[in-house]
Amino acid sequence: MIGKTSILVIYTGGTIGMVQDPKTMTLRPLTFDILYKYLPVLENFNCNIDFYTFEPLLDSSNMNPEFWIHLASVIEEKYEDYDGFVVLHGSDTMAYTASALSFMLENLNKPVIFTGSQLPIGMVRTDGRENFINSVEIAAAKDVDTPVVPEVAICFENKLYRANRTSKLNAENFKAFVSGNYPLLGEVGVHIKYHHNLIMKPNFKKLRVLKELDENIAILKLFPGISPNVVEAILNTKGLRAVILETFGAGNAPTVQWFLDQLQDANARGIVVFNVTQCKGGAVDMGKYETSAGLGKIGVIGGYDITTESAVTKLMYLLGCGYSTESVKQLLQTSLRGEMTV
Ligand code: ASP
Repeated sequence: MIGKTSILVIYTGGTIGMVQDPKTMTLRPLTFDILYKYLPVLENFNCNIDFYTFEPLLDSSNMNPEFWIHLASVIEEKYEDYDGFVVLHGSDTMAYTASALSFMLENLNKPVIFTGSQLPIGMVRTDGRENFINSVEIAAAKDVDTPVVPEVAICFENKLYRANRTSKLNAENFKAFVSGNYPLLGEVGVHIKYHHNLIMKPNFKKLRVLKELDENIAILKLFPGISPNVVEAILNTKGLRAVILETFGAGNAPTVQWFLDQLQDANARGIVVFNVTQCKGGAVDMGKYETSAGLGKIGVIGGYDITTESAVTKLMYLLGCGYSTESVKQLLQTSLRGEMTV
């Protein structure tokens, strides 16, 4: 199966390594030794597995861009020493971290596989064991000398997803993630079946890690009855550089004049307005309905079928790179890491 391949497992926290505090009955993270104790089968893998543990271990609700930079730096530092990376991460914000890493790791030619679990690894019915083992196997898979999955992916409940296409969908089911607009990269059954035609091809260029992220963005999620005060407050946030406008259906929004005026004003002040649908499947198609035709005319940029998680991290990345507003707008409509279908 696996030659003498080396995998680095980066443990950041999350349910996969949590135990129940007997006093408070809340879940809290434990050290990697505990995790390893429950997975003695890892000893039998025909590859070297090393571990890197974050301090402190975090519930993924506490993840942030500073942490993403730390994680990207670890991968950069260890890149030449390992054939692939497995990141153990809480599932709550995994789609954000994994999307961020997909943008930050330019010319990635090795697997970076994120996984976690819905039940702690110490529990009898845990999903953590198979998620972990599958991820190590996928990170180690090679076709002759070339990694089979040279991109950032999420492996969860026997499915392999392109990371920047995912959202967490369910807080209860083992099938926690959805990729509404891009098919699975692979499926785990008796064999692991890879859909090679859907997986990125390596470009064999040198890895470049972009570590500047600009957090001056906001999400303006539309709902029927949203008031001018709320829209105005968000669009006038101090230092704001870009806003994700979470619209209805195929990118639709109210056509009332106060709303369009506020967006036009924001655009005139150099704030990028990025139209992303609230739907988990399908795409923004500005101009399809009368309720989106006006947005394009006032400079709103259509996000095609990008997820909110990908839109947030792509904007932080593009603004952090220091591009001009015009270039940011142009790159938002370009698929950089397979994050959208243009
Ligand atoms: N709250 C946990 C986290 O995201 C949930 C999980 O790991 O699935 O860190």
